[in-house]
Amino acid sequence: MSRLVATLAISGAHKIVTRAGEMLESALEKHGPDTPVAFVDRDGAGTTYGLPVIYALTGKKISKLGDIPEILEAARGMLTPVPDGDSVQPDLGNALNAGVAAVFAEELIKGIEFVEGKQPEVRNGYKYNGPISDVQTRSWGVAMVGGSMSGFAVIVGAAKSNEVAVKIVRELQSRGQLVFLSSTSDGRSIVDQLLEEGIELGYNTYTVPLGSDTESAIYAAGYAARAAISFGNIPAGNTQDIIDFNKKHCMAYVLCLGPLDDVKVATGAGALNLGFPIICDTEVPDLEGVEDVIISMPFDDIPGEDDMERARKLVQRCIETRGIKLKITEMPIPVSFGPAFEGEIVRRADMQAEWGGKNAVSLEWLRMKGMDEIEDGKFTVVGPEVLDIEEGSANPIAVIVEVAGSKMEKDFEPVLERQIHNFVNCAEGVQHIGQRDSVWIRISKSAVSRGFQLKHLGDILHASLHNDFGAIVDKVQVTIYTDKAKVGEFTEQAREVYRERDERMAGITDEAVDTYYSCTLCQSFAPNHVCIIPPERTGLCGAYSWLDCRAAYEINPTGPNQPVIKGTIIDADKGEWEGVNQFVHERSNRIFDRFTFYSIMDAPMTTCGCCEAVTMLIPEANGVLVVSRDDPSITPAGMTFTTMMGTVGGGQQTPGMMGHSKRWLASPKYIPFEGGLKRVVWLSKNIKEEFADELKAACARLGEPDLLDKIADGDSATTIEELLPFLEEKGHPALTMAPII
Ligand code: SF4
Ligand code: ZN
Repeated sequence: MSRLVATLAISGAHKIVTRAGEMLESALEKHGPDTPVAFVDRDGAGTTYGLPVIYALTGKKISKLGDIPEILEAARGMLTPVPDGDSVQPDLGNALNAGVAAVFAEELIKGIEFVEGKQPEVRNGYKYNGPISDVQTRSWGVAMVGGSMSGFAVIVGAAKSNEVAVKIVRELQSRGQLVFLSSTSDGRSIVDQLLEEGIELGYNTYTVPLGSDTESAIYAAGYAARAAISFGNIPAGNTQDIIDFNKKHCMAYVLCLGPLDDVKVATGAGALNLGFPIICDTEVPDLEGVEDVIISMPFDDIPGEDDMERARKLVQRCIETRGIKLKITEMPIPVSFGPAFEGEIVRRADMQAEWGGKNAVSLEWLRMKGMDEIEDGKFTVVGPEVLDIEEGSANPIAVIVEVAGSKMEKDFEPVLERQIHNFVNCAEGVQHIGQRDSVWIRISKSAVSRGFQLKHLGDILHASLHNDFGAIVDKVQVTIYTDKAKVGEFTEQAREVYRERDERMAGITDEAVDTYYSCTLCQSFAPNHVCIIPPERTGLCGAYSWLDCRAAYEINPTGPNQPVIKGTIIDADKGEWEGVNQFVHERSNRIFDRFTFYSIMDAPMTTCGCCEAVTMLIPEANGVLVVSRDDPSITPAGMTFTTMMGTVGGGQQTPGMMGHSKRWLASPKYIPFEGGLKRVVWLSKNIKEEFADELKAACARLGEPDLLDKIADGDSATTIEELLPFLEEKGHPALTMAPII
């Protein structure tokens, strides 16, 4: 390895470790050894993994200042003297060890900064995200499983110009990369650059500002470390397994923009140890022996016409270095396209115009046609296009998607139709909300100025349907009506179709079919986890229904969704079938023998990291509580959602505790063996609000129309002591039901 790089790594690590030591000394003096140390992000969401990198690699959970000296000592022990002159020959091993020491010390520094109230950082009035919360880690895990997020970039430094910064981030986003931002070059941070250009940052846009110092890059490593523990099911402290998991699954790399300094190089050496290669946009001398993992691609030497083309090539190189297989293909549209844009919001002030929403009629309808009835790739806009209408106006729209294919079935229409939302939202500068006859689309001025028009919705739907559903869809034709009379005409027809579909779906009950479907997508992270999906219960992530799985099986007969023949019934009340048990046994690596569908107490389904909500037994109240992933508050069980996931997640079967989708609560098949909703004594407020209508209907079905008001939430009770009197006062049915255990 380059003598210069090795020397910098060792001297940088010395610097970081020394600083951690000084900070610790002063913090201990000021606050004492029992002062808690905890990471939380800008929204106050935290982690149960202590300082996650240290926890993952050593198995030691740091929770207070007094836990730090031991780790700091270990870091010191990894340092060799800084090579000086020609007397000492720096070697790769020493430099890499220095990298580990640097990473430990950086995480300690951040921990101490939390104690001192300096994290998450605020710079120029902007609050950085700081560390990644457990909740977010899990939800990105789902994107990793699904393949929509294929890798992650840790950017250190700042780009040559604001324009280049935007281009790099857009290129990464449109390739489905998660982007972490840290550090500065010559006093500038890429976060400054992006904010100045009005780029939206945060979890939503897959572009997360960690902090403006190099040390904050450690938060990205903390994310990878937790992914290994929670999705890889690797016990903390199994250092080599954690590193191997990261190398194989996390697809991370460091993109170093601007000149290097010793702290950056030491951090980089730490990243190399974790299996993350480094791509620099500057000249790094003499990389013999490490040229596979440290790539020097001096920006101005990159062949290409201009900076924009260079930025694109730099990103391309990052992806190639990591060997990332992109699921996303190039879209023939004038704006970027990728899941990073899904959460993007187009504000009123930034919009060219909107369609549907509160002020105009709208609908989306996907229907099956005969092979000869439609023409693949034909897109028509009937009525005014974007540029024909008044800026800022609300307009009618009907998006009619017609598909044909020999394996297409009428039942798949709603499955594909629901994808319109996901597909359209992936376009930069386009916001899509809703479905069926309540759609709301906004297109930004900047997208329009780059040439985006309504007809491009056709391109998006055509390409995406072929990509994702190519096995059942051979032809896609899209017609967009923006003429008010036409839209009205279609609305009537479409409403009739929606009604028929709903009736048909309501008729597909658990009893009405003899085949359920499995989903084993999450096994790449929770190897023993299997979701079995009957018609009246979606997968616990909320993303896959029975019909979705049936369509997926048609698309890919050897994929993660397989038919499961129910077979002989063992227990009708608990919902146990021989065929299901057999399947579960085989597909759970023979860890689990039984699943019941209707009981939480006896062999409930396993729970992986991506459930939307958890139901947990509260014996004191003779009932259960339900907490949503979006609810960070502490429940009367004395645990938050995140702490519960620590017990139940990772693919375990835990009687009395189970992950599930939010929607399932309103299903007649929600733990009927224990009494269903009547057992729910506490429920996260956001679920109460989001599913108010469905839940009310479910309560009425149970003969308890006022039940929802009798169920406590975070406003009425945060402890058992508050919960019990609330239930007494309201006369909650659980108090007089048969004992749950
Ligand atoms: Fe994972 Fe189950 Fe969702 Fe499939 S249905 S992605 S296994 S949680
Ligand atoms: Zn999962």
